[in-house]
Amino acid sequence: MTDPIIKFDKVGKSYGSLKVLDGLDFEVKRGEKVTIIGPSGSGKSTVLRVLMTLETINDGVVYVGNEPLWHEQRSGALVPAGEEHLRKMRRQLGMVFQQFNLFPHMTVRRNIAEAPVKVLGLSRQDANQRAEELLEMVGLADQAHKYPHQLSGGQQQRVGIARALAMRPKVMLFDEPTSALDPELVGEVLNVIARLASEHDLTMLLVTHEMRFAREVSDRVCFFDKGQMKEQGTPDELFTAPREQRTRDFLKAVL
Ligand code: ADP
Ligand code: MG
Repeated sequence: MTDPIIKFDKVGKSYGSLKVLDGLDFEVKRGEKVTIIGPSGSGKSTVLRVLMTLETINDGVVYVGNEPLWHEQRSGALVPAGEEHLRKMRRQLGMVFQQFNLFPHMTVRRNIAEAPVKVLGLSRQDANQRAEELLEMVGLADQAHKYPHQLSGGQQQRVGIARALAMRPKVMLFDEPTSALDPELVGEVLNVIARLASEHDLTMLLVTHEMRFAREVSDRVCFFDKGQMKEQGTPDELFTAPREQRTRDFLKAVL
């Protein structure tokens, strides 16, 4: 766990006069499990969306691996990245959204197997096999032929996780993966994520309001406020002895 696999170097992003990321410095090391917490509107989702190239940036540089994400190196200078570079970079990341975003007209198995066939060029047979292994892993081996609307929210989200994993990403991003679920379905999804977190190779960056869970699975917790990382530490440091008043206020309100 030494070199950063994700690095935000003085990254700025604005919508008009609203600064969403404000000179953000932030990094995640290879294999690390990092949780971002912070108030609504503090830029947490934006960080993940920038990594997935769903949002652009106005300032600074984002690195994935050792390569700039939004830029390419050309004759010694950084220039805006072309679509091919973005595609290559994006492929290293898998994202799980709050709203599961499954394809409604495809079976569960097809939801998982589609991108490996279309993007990675796997044979349909190999992709189906990969899908079935992943369904086994998330406890849904018997649901392969169902359609998303036939599943509970918790099951749909577990399919969402399997679908992201099917691309064998180096980094898994989770944006409030349990916020849209009924309370009794949260546990089954958190269990799957916790199991993933015990895999040493996989890097995980997670936004969540589940503080107890964050405490259990994270190597490091980062508190965001107003587009900046205000404080970071081990779960013990951050949850039991936060240094910043703003962090203390936030934790008091949510714990
Ligand atoms: P968080 O995930 O921490 O709640 P976000 O990263 O989603 O925060 O958003 C940060 C800020 O950017 C919020 O104030 C939000 O309203 C604003 N924002 C997000 N997307 C847009 C957009 N497309 N246009 C204008 N403002 C946006
Ligand atoms: Mg958000």
